[in-house]
Amino acid sequence: MKYKTLNSFLFLFAAIIFFINTTYAQVIYSDESKIIPVGSSVEYLIDEQNTYTFNDILQNKNFKHNSLDVLNLGILPTSSIWIRLKILNKSNTTHLILQLDQPTVDKVIFYHYDTFLKKHVSITMGEFQLFGLRKYLTPDYLFDITIPKGRIHTYYIKINCKENVQIPLYIGTSTSLFNYSVSKNLISGIYIGIMLVMILYNLFIYTSTKDKTYLYYSIFIITTLLTQTHLQGYPFQVLWPNSPWLAMHGSFIFPSLVGIASLEFFKEFLRIKERLKRMYYLSILFIIPYCFAMLLSSLGFYKISYQIIEINAGVISIFMLIASIVIYRMNYREARYFLMGWSIFLLGVCIYILKDFDILPYNNFTRYTMHFGSGIEVILLSFALADKINILKKEKEASQAEVLMALKENEKLITEQNIELEKRVTKRTHELSTTLKNLKDTQAQLVDAEKMASLGQLTAGIAHEINNPINFVSANVKPLQLDIDDLLSIIQKYENINPNENIDEQIKNIDKYKNQIDYTYLKQEIGTLLHGIGDGAKRTAEIVKGLRNFSRLDEGDIKTANLNEGIESTLTIVRSAMPNNVKVVLNLGELPLIECYPGKLNQVFLNAINNSVHAMQKNKIVPNHTLTISTYVLDHSVCVSIEDTGIGMSDEVKQKMFEPFFTTKDVGEGTGLGMSIVFKIIESHNGNIDVQSAINKGTKITFTLPKKLVIS
Ligand code: ADP
Ligand code: MG
Repeated sequence: MKYKTLNSFLFLFAAIIFFINTTYAQVIYSDESKIIPVGSSVEYLIDEQNTYTFNDILQNKNFKHNSLDVLNLGILPTSSIWIRLKILNKSNTTHLILQLDQPTVDKVIFYHYDTFLKKHVSITMGEFQLFGLRKYLTPDYLFDITIPKGRIHTYYIKINCKENVQIPLYIGTSTSLFNYSVSKNLISGIYIGIMLVMILYNLFIYTSTKDKTYLYYSIFIITTLLTQTHLQGYPFQVLWPNSPWLAMHGSFIFPSLVGIASLEFFKEFLRIKERLKRMYYLSILFIIPYCFAMLLSSLGFYKISYQIIEINAGVISIFMLIASIVIYRMNYREARYFLMGWSIFLLGVCIYILKDFDILPYNNFTRYTMHFGSGIEVILLSFALADKINILKKEKEASQAEVLMALKENEKLITEQNIELEKRVTKRTHELSTTLKNLKDTQAQLVDAEKMASLGQLTAGIAHEINNPINFVSANVKPLQLDIDDLLSIIQKYENINPNENIDEQIKNIDKYKNQIDYTYLKQEIGTLLHGIGDGAKRTAEIVKGLRNFSRLDEGDIKTANLNEGIESTLTIVRSAMPNNVKVVLNLGELPLIECYPGKLNQVFLNAINNSVHAMQKNKIVPNHTLTISTYVLDHSVCVSIEDTGIGMSDEVKQKMFEPFFTTKDVGEGTGLGMSIVFKIIESHNGNIDVQSAINKGTKITFTLPKKLVIS
C-alpha cells in the first residue's frame, strides 16, 4: 500500500516535472477561437556581438527559458535576439499564424523547416524595408505556419531592435487574429479620432483668437499623437510607407518633439515668463538635451539617445509639476486644470515606464495607459483652454464695464467742461480779434516804416545831390550882385550926364571910372557867373526830374516805362550812401517800354540794391567790391539782374529771405520786410525772381518781367 502510494506519488511528481518541462519547452495550441501569448514558452539567446549564423544557432545550447508572458529584455540596440519556439498543434486547423505585435522592430527574420525542400527557409520583415513589401499589410508582423494536428514544429526568430526589446508573440488562427486586431484598431481609432478633433478644434480657436497657446497646444497634440501611434506602427503604414528611416528613428524624434512642444505650451499657457522668471530660463535649457538626443540617434548612438530622452522627460515632468503647483498656489485658476491633466498624463507615463522596466506586467491595460493618459490629458487641457477663454471674457467684461463707467463719468465732465470752454472761447475770440487788429495795425505800421525808410533815404539822397549845384548857384549870386552893382553904377553915371556941361569931359571921367572898376573883366565875369548859375540850375532840374521819376513810388497806375530810367533814378538816390570801395558797373541793354507800375519797380530795385550794399559792407574778405546791374531782353521778358560781391547767403537764409519779418540784420538795422515787399511787387507783375548765392562770394538776384503785363 505504502509502496503503491509512493509509486503514485512519484508518478505524479514525474508528471508535474514533465508538464512543467513541456510547458516551458513548447506551446500547445488547442482552441481555434482564441489567440494565445507564447512568451512564457519561448527560449531566447542574446547574440551581443551580432555574429551568429543560423547554423551556429541550431547547435547552440545556451538558450534560456523565459517565464513572463511577454519577453522583456531592456535596451539592446547593438545585439541580435534569437528566439526558439516549439508549437504543438492540438486544434483542428493546420494553418496558423504567428504574430509579433511589436511594430517598432527594425528587422525580424523568421526561420522554419520546409518539409518539401527539406531545409530551413526564412522570411525577413521589419521597419528597415518599405511597408509595401509585407505580405500582410498590417503594422505588426504576421507569419504563416502550417502544423498538422498533433504535431510539434520548431521555429526560430531573429530580432534587431533599437528601442526597448519587448517581444509580444501570439499564436492564433486568421479568424481569431482578425477579431483581435479589429478590437485593437477600434481603441486606436477612438484615440486618434479624439486627438484629431482636438487638433482641429484648437487650430480653429488659434486662427480666430491668434492666441499662441492654442497653436502650441495643437502642435503638442500632433506630436503626442505621432509618438503614440508610431509605437503601433500606424504612421509608417499610412503616412510614410516609403520612408524606413523615419520609421526606424521615429521613436527618438517624436518623443523629443513632444517634450519640446509640451514645454512651449506649458510656458505660454501658465505665462511662466511673467510669473516665474528663473523657471522660464531653466525651461529653455531643457530643449537642448532633446536636440542632442535627436542628433545622436541619427548618428547611430541609440542607447544613449534613448536614455537622454527618458531622463530628460522625467526631469521635465517633475519640473512642470512643481511649476504648476507653485502657480496654482499663486491663485491662478488655469493651473488647476493643467495640474490635473498633467498628473494624469504623468501617471500614464509612470505606468508605461514601470511596464518597460518589468515591474508592471505587459497587458492591454499597461499597453494602452499612454493612450488613456494622453487622451484624458488632452481633453482636460482643452477644458483648461476653454476656461481660459472664460477668464479672458470675464476680464474683458469687467474692463469694459469699467471703461463704460469711466466713459459716463467722462461724458459728464466733458459736458461741464464744454460749457466752461464755450465761455472761454467767446472770451478768447474777443481777445484774439483785438490782438489780430493790433497785429494788422503793427504790420501796416512796419510796412509804413519800411516806406518811410526809403523815403528818408530818398530825401537824404536828393538833399545831397541838390546841395552841390545849389551851392554853386548861391556862391555865384553874390559876386554877380556886386558885378551888377558896378554895372548899375556905370549906367547911373551915364544917366547923370548933363548935356549942358562939357560932355567929352564927362565921358572921359566915366571911362576913367570904367578902367577903375575893370569893366572888361566885369563883362567877362558876369558871363561866367551867369553860365555857372545856368549850369547849377540845369543840374538841379535834372535831379528834380530824377526825384519825380522815383517818386512814382506811390503811383497806383499802370504806365509804360523804360526800366533803365528807373534804375538810373534809383541809383541817383543811393549814390550818396554808396561806400567808397564799391564800384558800380552798369550793363544796361536796349529795352522796350513795358507795362508796369514803375514806382513799385523802383522800390524793388532800391530794396535789392540796399541789401547788396549792406552785404558788401559786411564782407571784409574782399577789399574792393563791385555792384553789377544788368538789363537785357530774353524771349518775351525783360530781365534785371543785380549782382554783388557781398557775404552771400546760406541755403537756409536763401529759403527764408522772402518771408515777412525774416532778417539776419541786427535790431534796428533791418525790418525783414524789404524782400517780402519785393516778392509781392514782382508777383503782381507776373514776374519771376531767381536768386543765386554763395557764402563770402556774393549774390545775384535776377528779376524777369513779362513785356506785356497781364493782370491776374
Ligand atoms: P532786411 O534787409 O530788413 O534784413 P530783407 O527782406 O530785405 O530784410 O532781407 C531779408 C534777409 O535776406 C536779409 O536780412 C539778408 O540776410 C538776406 N539778404 C537779402 N539780400 C541779400 C544779399 N544781396 N546778400 C546777402 N544776403 C541778403
Ligand atoms: Mg532789406
